[in-house]
Amino acid sequence: MTTNHFDVVIVGGGLAGLSAAAYLSSKGKKIALLERGALGGRAVTLKIKGFNFNFGAHAIYGRDTSVLSKLEKELGLKIDWRDFEPTKAKYDIGNDLTAVPANIQGLFQTKLLKGFDKVKFTFEILKTMLKLETGHPHLSIQKWMERKQVNEEVREMMLGLASSNFFTREPEKIPSDVFFNYYRRIFTTNKPVAYIGGGWQALIEEFVRVIEANDGKIFTKLKAESLAVEGDHVTGVNTADGVISGDEFVFCIPPKELAKIFQETRLEHIMTHYANYDPTYVIVYDVGLKSRIDVPYTYIYDKQNNMFITDISYYDYTCVPEGGQLLQATAYLSQEELGNKDLVEQRKEVIEKLYDKHFPGWREQLVVPRVSTRAVVQEIKWTMNQQALPTFFPDYRNAFFAGDWCQGQGQLSELSFSSAYEVSKCILQKG
Ligand SMILES: Cc1cc2nc3c(=O)[nH]c(=O)nc-3n(C[C@H](O)[C@H](O)[C@H](O)COP(=O)(O)OP(=O)(O)OC[C@H]3O[C@@H](n4cnc5c(N)ncnc54)[C@H](O)[C@@H]3O)c2cc1C
Repeated sequence: MTTNHFDVVIVGGGLAGLSAAAYLSSKGKKIALLERGALGGRAVTLKIKGFNFNFGAHAIYGRDTSVLSKLEKELGLKIDWRDFEPTKAKYDIGNDLTAVPANIQGLFQTKLLKGFDKVKFTFEILKTMLKLETGHPHLSIQKWMERKQVNEEVREMMLGLASSNFFTREPEKIPSDVFFNYYRRIFTTNKPVAYIGGGWQALIEEFVRVIEANDGKIFTKLKAESLAVEGDHVTGVNTADGVISGDEFVFCIPPKELAKIFQETRLEHIMTHYANYDPTYVIVYDVGLKSRIDVPYTYIYDKQNNMFITDISYYDYTCVPEGGQLLQATAYLSQEELGNKDLVEQRKEVIEKLYDKHFPGWREQLVVPRVSTRAVVQEIKWTMNQQALPTFFPDYRNAFFAGDWCQGQGQLSELSFSSAYEVSKCILQKG
């Protein structure tokens, strides 16, 4: 492979790398995509005993205004959308269940807010939608609410929502501009949550179909080890099989990996800085059941314990054997719990109790559980001390960056898609 030269070399075959590779190849660029393991990265679908376990509910938030929908149209991707039913989403508030105020109907039905507080909360939403409220990058959402003297109940409500959307136990630390940017999109969407039929695997196959149809080259099990650079240009990626050279480079690998391959380059110190940031970690505890336990809701959020269960097989029955059910539980971890085995075990027991409470009999129906006690939902957690990685630096004119650790739109995979889309456009504009 020593003489291989491409218009664009893309490093990392997760959702960001795959979407950049599909987009650029569809526009006529000769691309190479390098992935050290299997395609998909954290967006994996694991097949065990007839169940397809995905990392997360593969939920796309605000799909009508999402970059994934844009890619769907522009690339002709076939995505089997399964829209979430908001009336089936409930908050567990101890002795009672109540509607999630994710839309106007939910807002009027929810018991989380009373009388006049609902009006105040609706007013906050309206201000966000109309861009009258934008927050400030130097103020956390907590500080912003204190300054604006938002009352206790409305404050609780806003932080509760942020906790569930940002997968964090520390919603108060989110920068207020990030908070309002996110909610402006979510409050104005007609499709707040949608799942992808067939899971992440179906989406990965669609990207691969487009890349291959446009003669893109995909190299799996091939790791980028270091870079060849000249002045303000990257010239190649060094691998065990030789150098892959190119005109432009898109790096879709997390900060810790970037820090390794950018050693002894102009970006060494910057990348080391980003590599020290904390990711957002969760516990995943999914269960495959041999027959369905039907309850009147498909999403239940335990407000006190910061965890939720989704009945994903209600929407995507391709992920279970006939008659089966796949329930997915996700618990947000605090910094203190991370790496503390006892605390993590306790959290697992609390998840089991939540299953007992809402899906009684699940233990008898259990075929296979799948647990991960340290899953990275997003590579850079939103706090006042951590910022997303820019998509390019002036030091290297032909190096771009994409992934859910980069600046972009939305949260989670939407950050991967939007940063990949932006850098691809930028490369195409260069000609
Ligand atoms: C439990 C869980 C639940 C989730 N739920 C949702 C959800 O419901 N909705 C949603 O939108 N998102 C969800 N996410 C987040 C989503 O999975 C990620 O945002 C997305 O997959 C990130 O894609 P990426 O390409 O940016 O990064 P990654 O998936 O991390 O991709 C990076 C890739 O680079 C490769 N790589 C690294 N180093 C090298 C190297 N040196 N050379 C070559 N290749 C390299 C890696 O192997 C990997 O494939 C969830 C994540 C988890 C863990």
